[in-house]
Amino acid sequence: MADPKGFLTTPRQEWPRRPVSERVRDWNEVYVPGALLPVIGAQADRCMDCGVPFCHDACPLGNLIPEWNDLVSREDWRAAAERLHATNNFPEFTGRLCPAPCEAGCVLAINQPAVTIKNVECAVADRAWEEGFAPPAPPERLSGRTVAVIGSGPTGLAAAQQLTRAGHTVAVYERDDRVGGLLRYGIPEFKMEKRHLERRLEQMRAEGTRFRTSTTVGRDVDAAGLRARYDAVVIATGATAWRELAVPGRELAGVHQAMEYLPLANRVCEGDLAVSPLSAAGRHVVIVGGGDTGADCLGTAVREGAASVTQLDIYARPGGERDEDAEPWPTFPKLYRLSAAHEEAGELRTAPAADADARLFAASTLRLTGDADGHVRSLHVVEVDAGRRPVPGSERTLPADLVLLALGFSGPERGDGLIAQLGLELDPRGTIARDADFATNVPGVFAAGDAARGQSLVVWAIAEGRAVAAAVDRHLTGGPSRLPSPIGPYDRPMTA
Ligand SMILES: Cc1cc2nc3c(=O)[nH]c(=O)nc-3n(C[C@H](O)[C@H](O)[C@H](O)COP(=O)(O)OP(=O)(O)OC[C@H]3O[C@@H](n4cnc5c(N)ncnc54)[C@H](O)[C@@H]3O)c2cc1C
Ligand code: SF4
Repeated sequence: MADPKGFLTTPRQEWPRRPVSERVRDWNEVYVPGALLPVIGAQADRCMDCGVPFCHDACPLGNLIPEWNDLVSREDWRAAAERLHATNNFPEFTGRLCPAPCEAGCVLAINQPAVTIKNVECAVADRAWEEGFAPPAPPERLSGRTVAVIGSGPTGLAAAQQLTRAGHTVAVYERDDRVGGLLRYGIPEFKMEKRHLERRLEQMRAEGTRFRTSTTVGRDVDAAGLRARYDAVVIATGATAWRELAVPGRELAGVHQAMEYLPLANRVCEGDLAVSPLSAAGRHVVIVGGGDTGADCLGTAVREGAASVTQLDIYARPGGERDEDAEPWPTFPKLYRLSAAHEEAGELRTAPAADADARLFAASTLRLTGDADGHVRSLHVVEVDAGRRPVPGSERTLPADLVLLALGFSGPERGDGLIAQLGLELDPRGTIARDADFATNVPGVFAAGDAARGQSLVVWAIAEGRAVAAAVDRHLTGGPSRLPSPIGPYDRPMTA
């Protein structure tokens, strides 16, 4: 804390976004390049270095936030990068993608805007790459033990990096043609440019982690055979079994799952396709689902040149202030938030009714109707009360020739045979069951990330990857592990 009065004299200032009219014409990240560094030292100086930093607890990784805030305010970027990487393998991912529960738990946030922790994290991570403070860290000695990690999302990548650095020989199996999981084909380029992922993968390859892409374990490779060939197996296959919309008209052409739509747009950015076969260009788009996946569809449809876009949220519009009884500080409150995509849709008036907000809250889909060719043309929606009962007389019809379903995910996919071939037990929620050491019912097989926790966040995925690596290391060496274990398998976000 270079200036002990920083929190009194400096107002919160976030990384500015580029003008909407400019950013919707490209796929690059929404932020103004280079605009973070000039403001971030003073922002880090707003940290009070309070005695009990609740931000630590609120961050699943236990990031040492006041320490690196202090180092940034003193412009010691090398030390800041070292402290940040001590707890987080991929801070450039979380610095861009994390909803920042740490900021909800910031002590300053009790009566003032929180410290811009996420922005400081991103600045430290980016600076570390620019200055060469994040070189590959290959192990000094190999243990002679082998580990197969199945799935290359943030969980699998964090587990693989930790285990490789601990000296084990690690191969990551990935069914897609490229590594990264939802970071690659789910999350759009405008939220995180894939060059950040590529740079980490280059580092991991230099450390010795091997990647086997286009290989579905259970289909291309027998899962039980894989278990026999390796000393341990980590299952990090995600939870991408999507939820369905059970309404009349679901079968019409033009109705797609978000995770059918988003990967194609990401493939356009990768240069695999000139145009997405599901492009929203010139179409009236309705997104069913009010969460982040829906917002990613919104930002993508806007960039593709949709004629109109509306996002339906079954929940009532949240308020702008924390409900101190239900969600007191330092928990993460449900608030009305304006993501970059919502800001774009609002400013461009993408909703057909020219509402300032492209979201319709408390909105439940009744049915879809189509034309003579069986293509969807309209979505019929009704307002619902807190008990999800339709409000009489509130039915309205939205033009819809592309309907995107973003209703969340129920657990890991089953179609590939992986779970059956290994004989893995599932818990009642349909996710892979595991004990307090991340171990499944099959000896030597561990489960982590969304596949075991259920649909979650990148920060939890990285924490899971680090924690499962420590458990696997203990299993392989038969002794205590020097690898950190930031969370247990049953830890959940802080609630009241
Ligand atoms: C559209 C979208 C946007 C999101 N945006 C954010 C965000 O902004 N911020 C945030 O914090 N979180 C976000 N999330 C959530 C976050 O992406 C996930 O919680 C996180 O990626 C989970 O990591 P994971 O490694 O456990 O699983 P995943 O990222 O799903 O990775 C699992 C990997 O396993 C592979 N796989 C599956 N089965 C097999 C098999 N049999 N053989 C080989 N490979 C296999 C898959 O192809 C995939 O690559 C978003 C999710 C979605 C869907
Ligand atoms: S990873 Fe998320 S919760 Fe942790 S410090 Fe970064 S922004 Fe905050």
